[in-house]
Amino acid sequence: MDFEKYTTLIEEVKRKGARLVAVSKTKPPAEILTLYDRGQTLFGENKVQELVQKYEQLPKDIAWHLIGHLQTNKVKFIAPFVSMIQSVDSMKLLAEIDKQAAKQERTIDCLLQIYIADEETKFGLSQTEAEEMLCSSQFTSLSHVHVCGLMGMATNTEEEEQIRREFRSLKTFFEKLKRTYFKENPFFCELSMGMSADYKIALEEGATLIRVGSKLFGEREYL
Ligand SMILES: *Cc1c(COP(=O)(O)O)cnc(C)c1O
Repeated sequence: MDFEKYTTLIEEVKRKGARLVAVSKTKPPAEILTLYDRGQTLFGENKVQELVQKYEQLPKDIAWHLIGHLQTNKVKFIAPFVSMIQSVDSMKLLAEIDKQAAKQERTIDCLLQIYIADEETKFGLSQTEAEEMLCSSQFTSLSHVHVCGLMGMATNTEEEEQIRREFRSLKTFFEKLKRTYFKENPFFCELSMGMSADYKIALEEGATLIRVGSKLFGEREYL
């Protein structure tokens, strides 16, 4: 854990009025605690089982964001405690989150994951799919989710201008949705974009949440 990097990063993020999601996937609870002891209470995980285990082992005032692909049959495991699901990529998934949140007598904050990268592998909705979802009668009937904004991942490239263009397109789409579907809605205010390699660009382009893992915790080892 590089505390100097953490301190610099958190100051940069606060100066911009944004928030840091410390992405702790694959990292043990002890490492999460060292950041928690420095005041970091917002963490991101991408797998349900790992998220549940860490939630059980760690202080209960940690806010957990799910940032990875979520299968509908696993929503029930995180519905009791998850703070935000950033990776909503279908109406079916959002409807299941609504159902499980209602069972827990909670409202769950969600972001729609929008596909912005020039890559085949990434999950997410196209802009058209997202708008179709927001227009549907099924969407209007949901009562236990807050759609709080959008999440996106830029292409993994050295081309700074391409990354900037992709983030800018996400911000433009966010503003369009805000005007069109969420005008009087105070919840729709989050734009989650930027990771270790491109968070500086994301902050310049208006991110309110950045998701940083390896820059804080060091490179991940996948076993
Ligand atoms: C792993 C992950 C991150 C963090 O990536 P780093 O490059 O380690 O900062 C951010 N967002 C998502 C969706 C991730 O899966």
